[in-house]
Amino acid sequence: MGGVNAAKRGLTPQEYRLEVQALVPPLPVVRLPLAMCRGLVLAEDVTAGVSLPPFDNSAMDGYAVRASDVVSATAENPVRLPVADDIPAGRTDVAPLAPGTSQRIMTGAPLPEGADAIIQVELTDGGTENVRIDASVLPRTHVRFVGEDVSSGDVILRAGTVLHPPQLGLAAAVGLAGLPVRRPPRVLVLSTGSELVPPGDPLPPGHIYESNSVLLAAAIEEIGGKAVVLRSVPDDVATFRAVVAEHVGEADLLITSGGVSAGAYEVVKDALSDQGVEFVQVAMQPGGPQGRGSFEGLSVVALPGNPVSAALSFELFLRPALLSAMGHSRTDRPRARARATAAMTSPPGRVQYRRGRHDAGHVEVVPVGGPGSHLLASFAASNCLIEIPVGVAEVAAGDEVDLVLLD
Ligand code: AMP
Ligand code: MG
Repeated sequence: MGGVNAAKRGLTPQEYRLEVQALVPPLPVVRLPLAMCRGLVLAEDVTAGVSLPPFDNSAMDGYAVRASDVVSATAENPVRLPVADDIPAGRTDVAPLAPGTSQRIMTGAPLPEGADAIIQVELTDGGTENVRIDASVLPRTHVRFVGEDVSSGDVILRAGTVLHPPQLGLAAAVGLAGLPVRRPPRVLVLSTGSELVPPGDPLPPGHIYESNSVLLAAAIEEIGGKAVVLRSVPDDVATFRAVVAEHVGEADLLITSGGVSAGAYEVVKDALSDQGVEFVQVAMQPGGPQGRGSFEGLSVVALPGNPVSAALSFELFLRPALLSAMGHSRTDRPRARARATAAMTSPPGRVQYRRGRHDAGHVEVVPVGGPGSHLLASFAASNCLIEIPVGVAEVAAGDEVDLVLLD
Protein backbone atom coordinates (compact mmCIF):
# COMPACT_ATOMS: atom_id res chain seq x y z
CA MET A 1 0.00 0.00 0.00
CA GLY A 2 0.96 3.65 -0.08
CA GLY A 3 2.99 3.76 3.12
CA VAL A 4 4.74 6.83 4.43
CA ASN A 5 5.05 8.48 1.02
CA ALA A 6 1.35 8.16 0.37
CA ALA A 7 0.58 9.62 3.77
CA LYS A 8 2.83 12.58 3.01
CA ARG A 9 1.57 13.42 -0.42
CA GLY A 10 -2.00 12.36 0.21
CA LEU A 11 -3.67 9.72 -1.92
CA THR A 12 -6.20 10.95 -4.45
CA PRO A 13 -9.76 9.78 -3.82
CA GLN A 14 -9.48 7.62 -6.98
CA GLU A 15 -6.31 5.92 -5.70
CA TYR A 16 -7.83 5.34 -2.30
CA ARG A 17 -11.00 3.97 -3.84
CA LEU A 18 -8.99 1.27 -5.64
CA GLU A 19 -7.26 0.34 -2.41
CA VAL A 20 -10.58 -0.05 -0.62
CA GLN A 21 -11.92 -2.06 -3.53
CA ALA A 22 -8.95 -4.45 -3.28
CA LEU A 23 -10.01 -5.22 0.30
CA VAL A 24 -13.41 -6.51 -0.78
CA PRO A 25 -12.95 -9.37 -3.28
CA PRO A 26 -15.89 -10.79 -5.27
CA LEU A 27 -18.40 -12.44 -2.95
CA PRO A 28 -19.08 -16.19 -3.20
CA VAL A 29 -21.83 -17.49 -5.44
CA VAL A 30 -24.73 -19.10 -3.60
CA ARG A 31 -28.17 -20.28 -4.62
CA LEU A 32 -30.80 -18.22 -2.82
CA PRO A 33 -34.60 -18.49 -2.80
CA LEU A 34 -36.19 -15.95 -5.15
CA ALA A 35 -37.57 -13.97 -2.22
CA MET A 36 -34.01 -13.24 -1.11
CA CYS A 37 -32.64 -12.32 -4.54
CA ARG A 38 -34.06 -8.85 -5.13
CA GLY A 39 -31.32 -6.38 -6.05
CA LEU A 40 -28.63 -9.06 -6.18
CA VAL A 41 -26.61 -9.93 -9.27
CA LEU A 42 -27.14 -13.17 -11.15
CA ALA A 43 -23.90 -15.15 -11.19
CA GLU A 44 -24.60 -17.61 -14.03
CA ASP A 45 -26.70 -17.70 -17.20
CA VAL A 46 -30.13 -19.20 -16.54
CA THR A 47 -31.81 -21.55 -19.03
CA ALA A 48 -35.54 -22.18 -19.14
CA GLY A 49 -36.60 -25.76 -18.44
CA VAL A 50 -40.11 -25.12 -19.79
CA SER A 51 -41.63 -23.07 -22.58
CA LEU A 52 -43.78 -20.03 -21.93
CA PRO A 53 -46.61 -20.42 -22.46
CA PRO A 54 -46.16 -24.14 -21.77
CA PHE A 55 -49.22 -25.00 -23.95
CA ASP A 56 -51.57 -23.25 -26.41
CA ASN A 57 -54.19 -21.44 -24.34
CA SER A 58 -56.90 -18.84 -24.46
CA ALA A 59 -56.07 -15.16 -23.98
CA MET A 60 -59.73 -14.30 -23.32
CA ASP A 61 -62.82 -15.52 -21.56
CA GLY A 62 -65.04 -16.65 -24.45
CA TYR A 63 -65.58 -19.55 -26.83
CA ALA A 64 -63.10 -21.79 -28.60
CA VAL A 65 -64.18 -22.23 -32.21
CA ARG A 66 -62.97 -23.11 -35.65
CA ALA A 67 -62.72 -19.76 -37.39
CA SER A 68 -64.17 -21.36 -40.53
CA ASP A 69 -67.43 -22.10 -38.60
CA VAL A 70 -68.08 -18.43 -37.89
CA VAL A 71 -66.91 -16.71 -41.09
CA SER A 72 -70.38 -15.36 -41.86
CA ALA A 73 -71.20 -14.13 -38.33
CA THR A 74 -72.23 -10.47 -37.94
CA ALA A 75 -74.39 -8.65 -35.40
CA GLU A 76 -77.28 -8.67 -37.94
CA ASN A 77 -76.67 -12.25 -39.00
CA PRO A 78 -75.25 -14.09 -35.99
CA VAL A 79 -74.11 -17.72 -36.06
CA ARG A 80 -75.39 -20.12 -33.38
CA LEU A 81 -73.24 -23.00 -32.21
CA PRO A 82 -73.86 -25.65 -29.58
CA VAL A 83 -71.61 -25.34 -26.52
CA ALA A 84 -70.09 -28.79 -26.18
CA ASP A 85 -68.02 -28.29 -23.06
CA ASP A 86 -66.74 -25.87 -20.45
CA ILE A 87 -62.97 -25.36 -20.04
CA PRO A 88 -61.88 -23.56 -16.90
CA ALA A 89 -58.17 -22.71 -16.38
CA GLY A 90 -56.33 -25.72 -15.02
CA ARG A 91 -58.53 -28.32 -16.74
CA THR A 92 -56.42 -31.07 -18.28
CA ASP A 93 -58.92 -33.53 -19.85
CA VAL A 94 -60.04 -31.26 -22.66
CA ALA A 95 -61.86 -33.05 -25.48
CA PRO A 96 -61.18 -32.13 -29.12
CA LEU A 97 -63.54 -29.60 -30.66
CA ALA A 98 -65.95 -31.22 -33.09
CA PRO A 99 -66.65 -29.22 -36.27
CA GLY A 100 -69.74 -27.02 -35.98
CA THR A 101 -69.52 -26.78 -32.18
CA SER A 102 -67.94 -24.45 -29.63
CA GLN A 103 -66.51 -24.86 -26.14
CA ARG A 104 -66.83 -22.20 -23.46
CA ILE A 105 -63.28 -21.36 -22.36
CA MET A 106 -61.66 -19.17 -19.70
CA THR A 107 -58.45 -17.13 -19.89
CA GLY A 108 -55.42 -19.39 -19.44
CA ALA A 109 -57.35 -22.62 -20.16
CA PRO A 110 -55.84 -25.05 -22.71
CA LEU A 111 -57.07 -24.66 -26.29
CA PRO A 112 -58.97 -27.78 -27.36
CA GLU A 113 -57.53 -29.69 -30.29
CA GLY A 114 -59.26 -28.61 -33.49
CA ALA A 115 -60.01 -25.07 -32.29
CA ASP A 116 -58.01 -22.29 -33.90
CA ALA A 117 -59.54 -19.09 -32.48
CA ILE A 118 -61.31 -17.63 -29.48
CA ILE A 119 -64.42 -15.48 -29.69
CA GLN A 120 -64.36 -13.17 -26.71
CA VAL A 121 -67.47 -13.42 -24.53
CA GLU A 122 -68.40 -9.77 -25.23
CA LEU A 123 -69.09 -10.69 -28.88
CA THR A 124 -71.62 -13.38 -27.85
CA ASP A 125 -74.77 -13.78 -25.75
CA GLY A 126 -72.74 -15.77 -23.18
CA GLY A 127 -74.92 -18.89 -23.66
CA THR A 128 -74.07 -22.16 -21.94
CA GLU A 129 -76.11 -24.64 -24.06
CA ASN A 130 -75.96 -22.74 -27.32
CA VAL A 131 -74.10 -19.55 -28.04
CA ARG A 132 -74.98 -16.69 -30.34
CA ILE A 133 -71.86 -15.38 -32.02
CA ASP A 134 -72.06 -11.83 -33.37
CA ALA A 135 -68.74 -11.53 -35.20
CA SER A 136 -66.28 -13.52 -37.24
CA VAL A 137 -62.65 -14.06 -36.26
CA LEU A 138 -59.44 -14.76 -38.08
CA PRO A 139 -57.62 -17.99 -37.19
CA ARG A 140 -55.20 -17.54 -34.24
CA THR A 141 -57.25 -14.70 -32.71
CA HIS A 142 -56.87 -14.51 -28.91
CA VAL A 143 -54.79 -17.68 -28.79
CA ARG A 144 -51.50 -17.66 -26.84
CA PHE A 145 -49.23 -20.18 -28.48
CA VAL A 146 -46.76 -22.49 -26.76
CA GLY A 147 -43.25 -21.02 -26.66
CA GLU A 148 -44.35 -17.58 -27.89
CA ASP A 149 -42.52 -15.90 -25.00
CA VAL A 150 -39.80 -18.44 -24.09
CA SER A 151 -38.75 -21.71 -25.71
CA SER A 152 -37.56 -24.44 -23.39
CA GLY A 153 -33.74 -24.36 -23.51
CA ASP A 154 -33.54 -20.58 -24.10
CA VAL A 155 -31.16 -18.54 -21.96
CA ILE A 156 -33.66 -16.24 -20.26
CA LEU A 157 -31.34 -14.33 -17.92
CA ARG A 158 -27.65 -13.58 -18.41
CA ALA A 159 -24.96 -13.66 -15.73
CA GLY A 160 -24.45 -10.12 -14.47
CA THR A 161 -28.14 -9.19 -14.62
CA VAL A 162 -29.39 -7.26 -11.61
CA LEU A 163 -32.46 -9.06 -10.30
CA HIS A 164 -35.36 -6.63 -10.21
CA PRO A 165 -39.02 -7.67 -9.93
CA PRO A 166 -39.52 -8.57 -13.64
CA GLN A 167 -36.46 -10.86 -13.70
CA LEU A 168 -37.58 -12.58 -10.49
CA GLY A 169 -41.08 -13.01 -11.89
CA LEU A 170 -39.64 -14.60 -15.03
CA ALA A 171 -37.53 -17.03 -13.01
CA ALA A 172 -40.64 -18.09 -11.09
CA ALA A 173 -42.62 -18.38 -14.35
CA VAL A 174 -40.19 -21.00 -15.67
CA GLY A 175 -40.45 -22.88 -12.40
CA LEU A 176 -37.26 -21.89 -10.61
CA ALA A 177 -37.48 -21.53 -6.84
CA GLY A 178 -34.03 -19.98 -6.47
CA LEU A 179 -31.17 -18.44 -8.44
CA PRO A 180 -27.36 -18.43 -8.30
CA VAL A 181 -26.28 -15.00 -7.06
CA ARG A 182 -23.31 -13.39 -5.39
CA ARG A 183 -24.40 -13.33 -1.79
CA PRO A 184 -24.83 -10.02 0.01
CA PRO A 185 -21.77 -8.79 1.90
CA ARG A 186 -21.93 -9.01 5.70
CA VAL A 187 -20.56 -5.78 7.08
CA LEU A 188 -19.82 -5.00 10.72
CA VAL A 189 -20.36 -1.37 11.68
CA LEU A 190 -18.61 -0.06 14.76
CA SER A 191 -18.79 3.50 16.05
CA THR A 192 -16.20 4.82 18.46
CA GLY A 193 -16.22 7.77 20.83
CA SER A 194 -16.63 8.21 24.58
CA GLU A 195 -19.06 11.05 23.89
CA LEU A 196 -21.59 8.90 22.06
CA VAL A 197 -25.03 8.04 23.41
CA PRO A 198 -27.56 5.78 21.64
CA PRO A 199 -30.58 7.64 20.23
CA GLY A 200 -33.54 7.26 22.59
CA ASP A 201 -31.44 7.61 25.75
CA PRO A 202 -31.26 10.85 27.76
CA LEU A 203 -28.43 13.10 26.55
CA PRO A 204 -25.97 13.94 29.36
CA PRO A 205 -23.97 17.19 29.11
CA GLY A 206 -20.99 16.98 26.78
CA HIS A 207 -22.40 13.99 24.88
CA ILE A 208 -23.93 13.62 21.43
CA TYR A 209 -26.23 11.09 19.89
CA GLU A 210 -24.53 8.34 17.93
CA SER A 211 -25.69 8.61 14.32
CA ASN A 212 -22.97 7.14 12.12
CA SER A 213 -23.93 3.51 12.63
CA VAL A 214 -27.54 4.16 11.65
CA LEU A 215 -26.49 6.07 8.54
CA LEU A 216 -23.85 3.53 7.51
CA ALA A 217 -26.08 0.51 8.15
CA ALA A 218 -28.84 2.09 6.06
CA ALA A 219 -26.36 2.83 3.26
CA ILE A 220 -25.15 -0.79 3.32
CA GLU A 221 -28.67 -2.18 3.28
CA GLU A 222 -29.75 0.22 0.56
CA ILE A 223 -27.37 -1.52 -1.86
CA GLY A 224 -28.42 -4.98 -0.69
CA GLY A 225 -25.73 -5.64 1.94
CA LYS A 226 -26.28 -7.00 5.43
CA ALA A 227 -25.19 -4.64 8.18
CA VAL A 228 -24.43 -5.85 11.68
CA VAL A 229 -24.24 -2.87 13.99
CA LEU A 230 -22.03 -3.50 17.02
CA ARG A 231 -22.46 -1.60 20.27
CA SER A 232 -20.41 1.55 20.00
CA VAL A 233 -17.21 1.63 22.02
CA PRO A 234 -15.58 4.37 24.08
CA ASP A 235 -12.13 5.68 23.21
CA ASP A 236 -10.42 2.77 24.89
CA VAL A 237 -8.10 0.50 22.94
CA ALA A 238 -8.72 -2.61 25.04
CA THR A 239 -12.50 -2.34 24.73
CA PHE A 240 -12.22 -1.65 21.01
CA ARG A 241 -10.03 -4.70 20.44
CA ALA A 242 -12.26 -6.89 22.60
CA VAL A 243 -15.42 -5.96 20.67
CA VAL A 244 -13.72 -6.48 17.31
CA ALA A 245 -12.24 -9.82 18.43
CA GLU A 246 -15.74 -11.08 19.36
CA HIS A 247 -16.94 -10.62 15.78
CA VAL A 248 -13.86 -11.16 13.63
CA GLY A 249 -15.03 -14.39 11.98
CA GLU A 250 -18.53 -13.20 11.17
CA ALA A 251 -18.14 -10.77 8.35
CA ASP A 252 -16.59 -9.79 5.05
CA LEU A 253 -15.69 -6.33 6.24
CA LEU A 254 -15.52 -4.11 9.31
CA ILE A 255 -16.33 -0.41 8.95
CA THR A 256 -15.37 1.73 11.90
CA SER A 257 -16.04 5.42 12.39
CA GLY A 258 -14.11 7.94 14.46
CA GLY A 259 -10.72 7.81 16.08
CA VAL A 260 -8.55 8.08 12.98
CA SER A 261 -7.32 11.67 12.94
CA ALA A 262 -4.32 13.41 14.41
CA GLY A 263 -5.48 14.11 17.97
CA ALA A 264 -4.88 12.18 21.16
CA TYR A 265 -7.28 9.31 22.03
CA GLU A 266 -7.58 8.16 18.42
CA VAL A 267 -8.81 4.76 19.42
CA VAL A 268 -9.04 3.08 16.02
CA LYS A 269 -5.64 4.33 14.97
CA ASP A 270 -4.11 3.34 18.31
CA ALA A 271 -5.67 -0.13 18.23
CA LEU A 272 -4.99 -1.03 14.61
CA SER A 273 -1.82 0.80 13.52
CA ASP A 274 0.97 -1.72 12.98
CA GLN A 275 -1.66 -4.49 13.17
CA GLY A 276 -2.28 -4.61 9.43
CA VAL A 277 -4.23 -1.40 9.09
CA GLU A 278 -2.59 1.68 7.64
CA PHE A 279 -3.74 5.23 8.23
CA VAL A 280 -3.35 7.77 5.44
CA GLN A 281 -4.47 11.17 4.29
CA VAL A 282 -6.74 11.27 1.26
CA ALA A 283 -6.63 14.57 -0.59
CA MET A 284 -10.28 15.42 -0.10
CA GLN A 285 -12.48 17.53 2.09
CA PRO A 286 -14.29 16.39 4.11
CA GLY A 287 -12.93 12.95 4.93
CA GLY A 288 -9.15 13.42 4.74
CA PRO A 289 -7.97 10.97 7.41
CA GLN A 290 -8.71 7.36 6.47
CA GLY A 291 -7.49 3.88 7.36
CA ARG A 292 -7.68 0.55 5.59
CA GLY A 293 -6.13 -2.88 5.78
CA SER A 294 -6.86 -6.14 7.48
CA PHE A 295 -6.87 -7.07 11.14
CA GLU A 296 -6.70 -10.75 12.12
CA GLY A 297 -7.89 -11.68 8.63
CA LEU A 298 -10.83 -9.26 8.62
CA SER A 299 -10.82 -6.44 6.07
CA VAL A 300 -11.17 -3.11 7.82
CA VAL A 301 -12.05 0.32 6.49
CA ALA A 302 -11.72 3.00 9.16
CA LEU A 303 -13.69 6.15 8.47
CA PRO A 304 -13.38 9.53 10.13
CA GLY A 305 -16.04 10.25 12.76
CA ASN A 306 -17.70 13.41 11.58
CA PRO A 307 -21.05 12.29 10.20
CA VAL A 308 -20.68 13.93 6.78
CA SER A 309 -17.10 12.64 6.46
CA ALA A 310 -18.21 9.13 7.31
CA ALA A 311 -21.15 9.31 4.91
CA LEU A 312 -19.03 10.70 2.07
CA SER A 313 -16.33 8.12 2.64
CA PHE A 314 -18.93 5.39 2.33
CA GLU A 315 -20.34 7.02 -0.77
CA LEU A 316 -17.00 7.46 -2.52
CA PHE A 317 -15.08 4.35 -1.46
CA LEU A 318 -17.26 1.68 0.12
CA ARG A 319 -20.35 1.90 -2.01
CA PRO A 320 -18.49 1.18 -5.27
CA ALA A 321 -16.31 -1.45 -3.57
CA LEU A 322 -19.29 -3.34 -2.16
CA LEU A 323 -21.29 -3.06 -5.38
CA SER A 324 -18.35 -4.39 -7.32
CA ALA A 325 -17.88 -7.31 -4.90
CA MET A 326 -21.57 -8.10 -5.37
CA GLY A 327 -20.99 -8.37 -9.12
CA HIS A 328 -22.53 -5.09 -10.23
CA SER A 329 -20.93 -3.64 -13.35
CA ARG A 330 -22.43 -0.22 -12.73
CA THR A 331 -20.92 0.97 -9.47
CA ASP A 332 -20.81 4.71 -10.04
CA ARG A 333 -23.51 7.21 -9.35
CA PRO A 334 -24.71 9.17 -12.34
CA ARG A 335 -23.02 12.53 -12.81
CA ALA A 336 -24.09 15.80 -14.35
CA ARG A 337 -22.90 19.36 -14.77
CA ALA A 338 -24.90 22.38 -13.62
CA ARG A 339 -24.44 26.07 -12.89
CA ALA A 340 -23.76 26.87 -9.25
CA THR A 341 -26.15 29.51 -7.90
CA ALA A 342 -23.63 30.75 -5.33
CA ALA A 343 -19.88 31.19 -5.00
CA MET A 344 -17.79 28.58 -3.16
CA THR A 345 -14.16 28.30 -2.10
CA SER A 346 -12.13 25.12 -1.91
CA PRO A 347 -8.87 24.32 -0.08
CA PRO A 348 -5.69 23.91 -2.16
CA GLY A 349 -4.51 20.43 -3.04
CA ARG A 350 -7.80 18.70 -2.19
CA VAL A 351 -10.97 17.67 -3.95
CA GLN A 352 -13.83 19.29 -2.12
CA TYR A 353 -17.25 17.73 -1.93
CA ARG A 354 -19.96 20.23 -1.12
CA ARG A 355 -23.58 19.29 -0.71
CA GLY A 356 -26.14 20.67 -3.11
CA ARG A 357 -29.64 20.55 -4.49
CA HIS A 358 -30.04 20.31 -8.22
CA ASP A 359 -33.24 20.88 -10.15
CA ALA A 360 -34.89 18.23 -12.30
CA GLY A 361 -32.99 19.13 -15.46
CA HIS A 362 -29.62 19.60 -13.67
CA VAL A 363 -29.51 23.17 -14.97
CA GLU A 364 -28.69 24.79 -11.65
CA VAL A 365 -27.33 23.57 -8.36
CA VAL A 366 -27.84 25.37 -5.06
CA PRO A 367 -25.04 24.76 -2.53
CA VAL A 368 -26.61 23.60 0.76
CA GLY A 369 -24.83 24.60 3.96
CA GLY A 370 -21.12 25.21 4.29
CA PRO A 371 -18.18 22.85 3.86
CA GLY A 372 -18.23 21.70 7.52
CA SER A 373 -18.23 17.92 7.98
CA HIS A 374 -20.55 18.11 10.99
CA LEU A 375 -23.42 19.65 8.99
CA LEU A 376 -25.62 16.59 8.79
CA ALA A 377 -28.88 18.50 8.32
CA SER A 378 -27.45 20.17 5.20
CA PHE A 379 -26.46 16.77 3.89
CA ALA A 380 -29.94 15.44 4.62
CA ALA A 381 -31.41 18.37 2.66
CA SER A 382 -29.23 17.76 -0.40
CA ASN A 383 -29.64 15.49 -3.41
CA CYS A 384 -26.16 15.72 -4.91
CA LEU A 385 -22.50 16.32 -4.19
CA ILE A 386 -20.73 19.21 -5.84
CA GLU A 387 -17.23 18.07 -6.73
CA ILE A 388 -14.68 20.87 -6.83
CA PRO A 389 -11.45 19.45 -8.25
CA VAL A 390 -7.89 20.03 -7.12
CA GLY A 391 -6.60 23.27 -8.64
CA VAL A 392 -9.92 25.12 -8.36
CA ALA A 393 -9.79 27.47 -5.38
CA GLU A 394 -12.89 29.47 -6.17
CA VAL A 395 -16.15 28.84 -7.93
CA ALA A 396 -18.13 31.94 -8.88
CA ALA A 397 -21.90 32.05 -8.97
CA GLY A 398 -22.91 30.95 -12.46
CA ASP A 399 -19.86 28.69 -13.00
CA GLU A 400 -20.49 25.14 -14.18
CA VAL A 401 -19.63 22.46 -11.61
CA ASP A 402 -19.55 18.65 -11.56
CA LEU A 403 -22.29 16.89 -9.67
CA VAL A 404 -22.51 13.38 -8.26
CA LEU A 405 -26.24 12.65 -8.24
CA LEU A 406 -27.47 10.94 -5.10
CA ASP A 407 -31.18 10.81 -5.91
P1 AMP B 1 -13.40 11.65 15.59
O1 AMP B 1 -13.12 11.27 14.18
O2 AMP B 1 -13.55 10.49 16.49
O3 AMP B 1 -12.40 12.65 16.08
O4 AMP B 1 -14.79 12.36 15.57
C1 AMP B 1 -14.98 13.57 14.85
C2 AMP B 1 -16.30 14.19 15.23
O5 AMP B 1 -17.35 13.34 14.84
C3 AMP B 1 -16.48 14.43 16.70
O6 AMP B 1 -17.16 15.67 16.88
C4 AMP B 1 -17.33 13.27 17.16
O7 AMP B 1 -18.11 13.59 18.30
C5 AMP B 1 -18.20 13.05 15.95
N1 AMP B 1 -18.57 11.64 15.88
C6 AMP B 1 -17.72 10.60 15.91
N2 AMP B 1 -18.39 9.43 15.82
C7 AMP B 1 -19.69 9.75 15.72
C8 AMP B 1 -20.87 8.99 15.62
N3 AMP B 1 -20.84 7.67 15.58
N4 AMP B 1 -22.06 9.64 15.54
C9 AMP B 1 -22.08 10.99 15.57
N5 AMP B 1 -21.01 11.76 15.67
C10 AMP B 1 -19.82 11.17 15.75
MG1 MG C 1 -13.79 10.13 18.41
